[in-house]
Amino acid sequence: MSNTNYDPQRNEEIKGRCPIADSELCEWLGKNGCYQCYISSLKSSAQKEEALEHWKVTLSYLPDNIDDLHMSDECQFCKDEPPEKAEYYATFEMAHPEPYAEKGMILGLGKKVRTPIGSLLSIQASVGKECKKAMKMTDALQIGTFLGFLVLAFVLLMIPQIGQAMANWMAFMPYIFIALMLLAGYFLGKNLAAAHLKKIKKRVKVNLTEIPLIKQMLNRGWFFFQTGSDGMPKIFFHKTKIYDRLKRPCECAEEEEDEMLDNINI
Ligand SMILES: [Zn+2]
Repeated sequence: MSNTNYDPQRNEEIKGRCPIADSELCEWLGKNGCYQCYISSLKSSAQKEEALEHWKVTLSYLPDNIDDLHMSDECQFCKDEPPEKAEYYATFEMAHPEPYAEKGMILGLGKKVRTPIGSLLSIQASVGKECKKAMKMTDALQIGTFLGFLVLAFVLLMIPQIGQAMANWMAFMPYIFIALMLLAGYFLGKNLAAAHLKKIKKRVKVNLTEIPLIKQMLNRGWFFFQTGSDGMPKIFFHKTKIYDRLKRPCECAEEEEDEMLDNINI
């Protein structure tokens, strides 16, 4: 991180005055120092405390062992036992309706409208080399085939016997040709990607709901944010983690209640 003016002593001073200091929210947001923390940009203490309250609500909807998802040394996506060694982090976004959030003054009518999203989190899960490769291949096939056909269309048009012949036949023929090639590339890519997905489904949890901790989150009201046609969110892969942990290890004894909540099937 390029926080050149980071001064540990001054950071401690600011932290001493901050109402969220040493909370879970502080740990999550403030790992790069108070200078880069969103909370320190808020003007009043009340706003900071409100942010902390919201964060507590967000965390209350997460399973206590949520951090096992990315702290595990084992790939979370492997269907085979034993799973491969985790080397990367798969990141995707999940949202929850709580805490209550409202959009004010729509069209100046002064009507408060409840927003469907109260919490939005990037969730990371540990993933191994093989599963990452298999999942990335799906996108590569789709985009690669499309681009391949685009290039091929232009290459063919540059051959005078083809390009010139088409233009001589009808002036707009080359454009139709390009459009048809793009369409063909799109659908072929889609089919290749779908076939690949079907093949890897046997060994990779392409459907994120098959990951137990994600299943628990869904049971607690979380949902995938901005999903594709398959109902799954976009997954990004990183070599380094984007957060250390969301929840502190729990000392509380609410196991039974949690179990009940997590076993409800929706
Ligand atoms: Zn794996």
